[in-house]
Amino acid sequence: MTLNNLPPLREVIAEHGLNARKSLGQNFLLDLNLTSKIARMAGDLSGHDVLEIGPGPGGLTRGLLMEGARKVVAIERDERCLPALAEITDASDHRLQVISGDALEINPLDHMQAPIKVVANLPYNVGTELLIRWLTPDNWPPFWDSLTLMFQKEVAQRIVAKPGSKAYGRLSILAQWRSDAKIVMEIPPQAFTPPPKVTSAVVHITRLDQPKFAADRKTLERVVGMAFGQRRKMLRASLKSIHPNIEDILLASGVKPTERAEQLTIEQFCTIARNL
Ligand code: SAM
Repeated sequence: MTLNNLPPLREVIAEHGLNARKSLGQNFLLDLNLTSKIARMAGDLSGHDVLEIGPGPGGLTRGLLMEGARKVVAIERDERCLPALAEITDASDHRLQVISGDALEINPLDHMQAPIKVVANLPYNVGTELLIRWLTPDNWPPFWDSLTLMFQKEVAQRIVAKPGSKAYGRLSILAQWRSDAKIVMEIPPQAFTPPPKVTSAVVHITRLDQPKFAADRKTLERVVGMAFGQRRKMLRASLKSIHPNIEDILLASGVKPTERAEQLTIEQFCTIARNL
């Protein structure tokens, strides 16, 4: 068996009884043309190891392998998917390694070598948490060169949002401080089985070697967390407890104390963090 003559995903799902479970965020992509297209959004995969979270029956996994990934390490929590994934491991000359378990608990790096790309149709219940972990490691640069991830469109818009918009917030700043982030594709509900209620979007995030603006990560995260925690308030109020003379710090950072979080650029947040 080779990747090209594996059975269609609909048959794989029927054969292994993989009826989708809502509790695991299961909405499967069954069109291999589409999964290959998503894989290509991650750029050239040859010479890269790819981390995939939640391969399910393996549609995107097959796309990643067909597009030439050196190795795919896939973490799947649903044990029912393992036999179907084992068939892909055999058909790909063992370029696929499946790890059974919860992606929030497992460190896949023991099984992978740089350069690494992350590509996933993320389970909605853990997607944002994983993204924040990948964006905020203790040391920069992180283990990954790029993240190509599918989210609900509303979350994707928050990741790429610019100052002055409603979607702009903590996630936008974490994603754009040390990386470039863009939406590269929208995917309608009908592309999934079963269809979710909302449109999805693929975000491609490329890491930079250095942050765009210098700042201590933890201080920046604190400032941004507090400012957007009360986003309707003026900064002099939302940041009041961070420093006794917050108004002076804001003025010294070139920021009016009466401004609100969503008006500030990432550069301004970094300046405040440096001045604290
Ligand atoms: N990649 C497949 C596709 O595109 O058709 C499936 C995507 S589906 C949206 C999310 C997958 O993540 C499911 O297979 C689900 O079982 C798995 N999953 C859910 N929570 C998980 C977790 N904590 N760790 C690993 N996998 C998880």
